[in-house]
Amino acid sequence: MRQNRIGKSSKDRVAIALVLCFSVVALASVFTVKSSIDKINLSNDGMIAQNSKPEEQSVTKPVPTVDSMDNPSSKQGENNSSEKSAASSWALPVDGTVSVKYSTDVPIYSKTLDQYMVHNGIDISAPLDTQVKAVANGTIVNVYKDDALGTTIEINHGNGFITTYSNLSIDSMVEQGDVVKKGDIISGVGDTSLFEALDGPHLHFEMKKDGQLVNPADYLPL
Ligand SMILES: [Zn+2]
Repeated sequence: MRQNRIGKSSKDRVAIALVLCFSVVALASVFTVKSSIDKINLSNDGMIAQNSKPEEQSVTKPVPTVDSMDNPSSKQGENNSSEKSAASSWALPVDGTVSVKYSTDVPIYSKTLDQYMVHNGIDISAPLDTQVKAVANGTIVNVYKDDALGTTIEINHGNGFITTYSNLSIDSMVEQGDVVKKGDIISGVGDTSLFEALDGPHLHFEMKKDGQLVNPADYLPL
């Protein structure tokens, strides 16, 4: 029994000593590992801080200048319209859709008059008071109220061209003798025409060359 106890206690001491040794080794190794990790972190932080700054600067510099240079030239888009006319380029008098075409040879049915009639211009449908613009540079030669076509403005563009804008909502934006440029607002889309009253708000637009009616669709960028 005693020998067993002694033997047991000496084994315990050895065991305790071994555990202590292990723990010392373990602590020492943990210390060295931790200190080396700290060193690595420090050196990594230093590397990242040095590398990231020049990369960010080189990326942000060239982007904005390229876009801002491209926009002004791409917005004009007047090249297409110049193909329609040899004399000059024409602008649309109003943003809308052509609802009745030019037809001086074949009469077309008029809802308002309930009969077939020739149509001396084109109708462009657009909401009431949509801006009506001069299709080219010119001089206002007439502002009047037509019995059939309502409030009307005529512009002389030179080279024999005269354009007529009818069924307008406003007659006070320009007056006879005013010089206008292409795209200047001269009035708004109205519903003042008796002859086209049932067609809804639209611009009735006519065009003459040397006193003869011509098809606006041959000139405008429709
Ligand atoms: Zn019309």
